[in-house]
Amino acid sequence: MFKRILLANRGEIALRVQRTCRELGIETVAVYSEPDRHQLHVRDADLAVPIGPGPSSESYLVIDKIIDAARRTGAEAIHPGYGFLSENPRFADACETAGIAFIGPPAAAMRALGDKVSARKLMEQAGVPVVPGANDIDPSDLARARAEAERIGFPLLVKAAAGGGGRGIRVVERLDDLEAAMRASGAEAASSFGDATIFLERYIQRSRHVEVQIMADAHGEVRAYGERECSVQRRHQKLTEEAPSVAVDAALRRRMCDAAIAAARSCGYRNAGTVEFLLDDRGEFYFLEVNARLQVEHPVTELVYGVDLVRQQLLVAAGEPLPPHTRPLEPYGWAIEARINGEDPYQNFMPSVGLVTQVEAPLGPGTRFDTMLCDGLDVPVFYDSLLGKLIVWAETRELALRRMRRALLDLVIAGVETNIPFHLALLDHPDYVSGAVDTGWLEREFAMPDAGAGDPRAETALIAAALAASMTSAAANGATPAASTNEWVRTNRLRALEQRAGAGGGRGWRRGTGS
Ligand code: ADP
Ligand code: ADP
Ligand code: MG
Repeated sequence: MFKRILLANRGEIALRVQRTCRELGIETVAVYSEPDRHQLHVRDADLAVPIGPGPSSESYLVIDKIIDAARRTGAEAIHPGYGFLSENPRFADACETAGIAFIGPPAAAMRALGDKVSARKLMEQAGVPVVPGANDIDPSDLARARAEAERIGFPLLVKAAAGGGGRGIRVVERLDDLEAAMRASGAEAASSFGDATIFLERYIQRSRHVEVQIMADAHGEVRAYGERECSVQRRHQKLTEEAPSVAVDAALRRRMCDAAIAAARSCGYRNAGTVEFLLDDRGEFYFLEVNARLQVEHPVTELVYGVDLVRQQLLVAAGEPLPPHTRPLEPYGWAIEARINGEDPYQNFMPSVGLVTQVEAPLGPGTRFDTMLCDGLDVPVFYDSLLGKLIVWAETRELALRRMRRALLDLVIAGVETNIPFHLALLDHPDYVSGAVDTGWLEREFAMPDAGAGDPRAETALIAAALAASMTSAAANGATPAASTNEWVRTNRLRALEQRAGAGGGRGWRRGTGS
């Protein structure tokens, strides 16, 4: 096993990886941008190396700086987390050249999968069902694109081959809109990913996003840890995930896991990965893409399978075989994750940054909070809005939903706006509670209720505000209610003590009553 590894990331995922390293006795090296210098991932690391200013293009995305930091600190391996360089095959190559282990898949597998068009072709060969579509679309040959579109049918999607994070996707309802959508998708892809390649896919209506966690070692074992349900999305971005999925029974799980394993084997995959599928209302599933990294929502899988996926990533990267799974390879109980984002759900989810003045983490049974938050954290503007992930586990889905509500109510974050009210409102929606959702459900059916509605803390907040106001005005009038209460208590205690000690009489009690 490695003695020291570098974490090429920040925020909650850097802390998540650090925790496992500390449990395994592995030293960690943090890298950090200028505005991140006081963050927990820096404080908790054994060594920390500054890598430049706030913009990630000048810090967390600069391969040379990170390799140099690893060299200088003697790190034997690099964990890339998610986002940033995690799916960049050039980074994996650079690690190899520097003689540093990359804790992730081989660069060749990343190349084959990173491009959605080449991944679709690979899956077709491997017998994995893919969404019907057209792979090789030349934006200058509009006649052919129109013919392909008519063959696929409407609505359809124009997607970016290099896409990620929901970017570069356009819905086309009718043939007349095809050209504009192709142009918009290509332009967004070019500016976001430096690659304007696009392709067409049938829009699978009312489908669910269901993905399978895979883990592969260098000794030929590829294991699938069941599915995650990720259909609650806004702008193609996940907001809450759960494991297992209400739409997947044991037989379907077997079929989806087999397809995911075939997908992994088709490209010599190693380490952790996620095979994303769309599941339609007839129980047919279609390959979407592979995320060649640890996924944001990996903890729900960890809780229902009883595994530490980061530990397995480290073992596999060190060349060891996957540890045997000591109980049936099926989910136990139910886990739900709420992504806690710094954004205002009452202002169209506008990002919210600034100084966090107070944080109280939820505790108690089945409750996990993976977060970068702490009192005094200054949330920088440069990075994505994920502040933390609240994850609960319980014996059944119904109990997990109740636990999630309790934990959300226990979670206090002051100073920045968060989407906690959104998650509470979601728990009030009958469709969400029954699990009757698809990837379009949130934007089609869900509306934020008015601020404070249905939140039991609204009443407490009003009472607290009224008390604070009355104490402030009492203080302004010369009385000090809080202090005098303490004096009364102290006086009585002193009196009781004196009586018990047999000091007698009412002599001493005046001492406590200053003014
Ligand atoms: P997941 O499937 O794990 O939920 P997301 O698509 O939400 O993955 O992305 C995980 C993280 O990676 C987010 O922080 C997101 O902003 C970032 N990300 C995803 N794709 C890209 C990309 N192509 N380029 C840069 N960042 C990305
Ligand atoms: P990204 O790399 O941005 O995550 P994906 O291909 O995984 O792109 O798609 C993101 C989301 O867009 C999916 O989770 C799903 O909600 C929706 N989506 C993508 N392709 C289709 C499709 N063919 N039909 C319906 N919805 C789709
Ligand atoms: Mg995806």
